[in-house]
Order: sequence, then C-alpha cells, then structure tokens
Amino acid sequence: MEVKTLQRHIVTLATLKETGAPVISCYLNLERGPSACQDVLSERVQTLRKSLGEPERIQLDAAFRPIETYLRSRPASDALGLALFSRAGEQPFFLALEFRVPLPTWISVNHTPSIYHLVEIKDNYDRYVILFATEERARILGINLGSITQEVWKSRPELRRRIGHEWTREHYQDHRRERTKQFIREQIRIADQLMSAGGYGHLILAGPARLTAAVRQALPKHLVARLVDIVSATAADRLSDIVAATLQPFLEHEESESLAMVDQLLKQIHTHGLAVAGTHSSLAALCAGQVDVLVLARDYAPGEGWSCLACGLTVSEAKSVAACPRCQSGQLRQFDIKEEMVRRAEQLGCGIEVVDHSDLLMQLGGVGCLLRYADPAYYREKAA
Ligand SMILES: [Zn+2]
Repeated sequence: MEVKTLQRHIVTLATLKETGAPVISCYLNLERGPSACQDVLSERVQTLRKSLGEPERIQLDAAFRPIETYLRSRPASDALGLALFSRAGEQPFFLALEFRVPLPTWISVNHTPSIYHLVEIKDNYDRYVILFATEERARILGINLGSITQEVWKSRPELRRRIGHEWTREHYQDHRRERTKQFIREQIRIADQLMSAGGYGHLILAGPARLTAAVRQALPKHLVARLVDIVSATAADRLSDIVAATLQPFLEHEESESLAMVDQLLKQIHTHGLAVAGTHSSLAALCAGQVDVLVLARDYAPGEGWSCLACGLTVSEAKSVAACPRCQSGQLRQFDIKEEMVRRAEQLGCGIEVVDHSDLLMQLGGVGCLLRYADPAYYREKAA
C-alpha cells in the first residue's frame, strides 16, 4: 500500500461520523501465520461481549460478522499486518487494510475507530528508493511501507571490441572505465527521477562495496543530503532480503529525525515560543486547532479522559463527575487520550511524529505540540 493511500484511509477513519453503534478496531499480527492470531481474536471478542449491555452486544456481534467473513475468504498473501474496522447498525462501515509490515495484535471497541497504530506505521515507514548496483545491471526500487512499489531496471551497455580494430589493452581499459562511469551516472539519473516523480524523500545504496563507493562519489549534492545508508549486497542476494536489510537502517534514520523534532520542541519551550508540552496543554491545543505537529512517545500512555457531548468541554482526566461542571449535561463520553489526540491531529491535517525513545520527551510528559500560532492568552500576557 502506498503512503498516500494509507493517509486517505486514516482521514476517512478519523472523520467517520459517530452513530450509536460501536466500532470494532481489529489489528492482527500475521508474522506467525493467520491462524496464530485466531485464538486471541475470538477470546478478545468474548471478553468485549461481556463488557457490553444488551443492545450494544447485538451490534458488536453484527459488526464482527464481516470481519469473520473477510478472514475466512481472504486469499493467501505475504501480508504481515492486518487492520480491520467494522461497524453495524443504520450506517454500517467496513474497511480492511493489509500491510507488508507487522502490526501488533490489538482489538478494541469504541464509538470511533482506533487509528493510533496506523498513524505509527505511517510515521515510521516513509518512502525511500534503493539503488542496487551490480557489475552487470542496476535495479532502482521505490519502497513504500516496506514493500516494493516501483522498479526500474538498467542493464549495463555491452562492452564489445570494435570489429576491425585491434585495441591495445590500455585503450580497452580506458574505454571500460569510461563506460562504467557513464553507467553509474545513468543509474543516478534514473534514481533521481524516480525520487522526484514519486515523492521519495530518502535514498539507500546497495551492492558490493567497490560499486557503492563509486556511486556514492558520483552522487550530486541534493542526493547526498537524502542518503540514509549504504548496505552491502551481492548480485546473488534475493531482492526481498535486500529490502529487508534496508528497513532497519531506515528506521534508525527516521528515529534520528524524530529526535530532531523533540529538539525543536524543547527549543520552542525554552524560549516560550510556539510549543506546548504535557497531556493537558497538548489536548487543549488540539481542541483549539492550534497544532502544527503533534510529537508523542511510543510509550506515552495517558489513560482516559472525557468530553461533554452538549458543550464540548474536554477534560484529560478519568471521569469522576456525573454531570458536566460547565453546562450540567449528563451526556459525557469517555475516550482514550492518546487515540483522541491522533484522531484530532488527523482531522486538523497536522504532522504526527512518533518517537521511539527520548528521556527528554518523557520528562515533558511524553507529548508535546509545535503550534501554528500562539494562544491568544499569550499575546494578552505579553501586552500586559
Ligand atoms: Zn457541558
């Protein structure tokens, strides 16, 4: 699946209008085969059934049926992760997404789809190009969410001695070197074209060390800036192994970009600039539509909050009141804070950066936002 397609699905899920019927969000890990997660799934559904009252239990069963049908009838594939969303009732909804990257097995029921895990893979597996150079040919691969989505081959032009000319050995060697240089320039040109046409932000070189060194030397500046890593490979290696070998360095590179985002967040906070940190302020900024980038730690687990359906009051603490303190309405809805944050961020079209590990971010409460503009209260404060 292409990142663009995934982004479209995420927006559909983040903006899905609530009805009274519950939505099942079902993430399955297929690394040990589809049958391995079957037991977890049925056990989890039984637990969820018991946690619901009568009308919702019937709606849950009805929402679960299309998931079962899908799992029974899906053709074998090399998917490692599956995400299914299903709702029954007056406005039924069903969406099934398959990924070449693993997902955790995680099944929940809520008023809205749980999209955090989709947002995490979107953030972690950006798009990149592999230029795999061997003696005889080059393969230029566009990688999207862990799978090859575009492939360009380039064979080395044949090296023949001209008929009727007896070349000296020296002349032949010169000619060969020149051809190699030309061939490398040609590969780079194609990779460059694919990157700009396909919107790939990063480049990884693969091949025997001698060749990747030559390609690295010949790279123009704007591609050097996008070079993530050089991976050793030979012509005998399977393409899928080479792709797998590039994933780890790519994720490490992504993580260093995430940490750069944390730095930016800290800088803004130190200078009382356009940023907020912590659960309460971040949720408030998201509700006010002020956020440019939401930065959150993978391990961030803020628990539940609640909002008032009547007046919109949103509180980032577990519900302890029976009625809204602002409007006295009893129509309160609990939500998972992390899910609500990414849902609102997707609705706003913000950037979302998931950070693997950062002590500094955890000190700030595990979450922060870079803002588009400051809180009006900030300007009042400055003017005073
Ligand atoms: Zn209220």
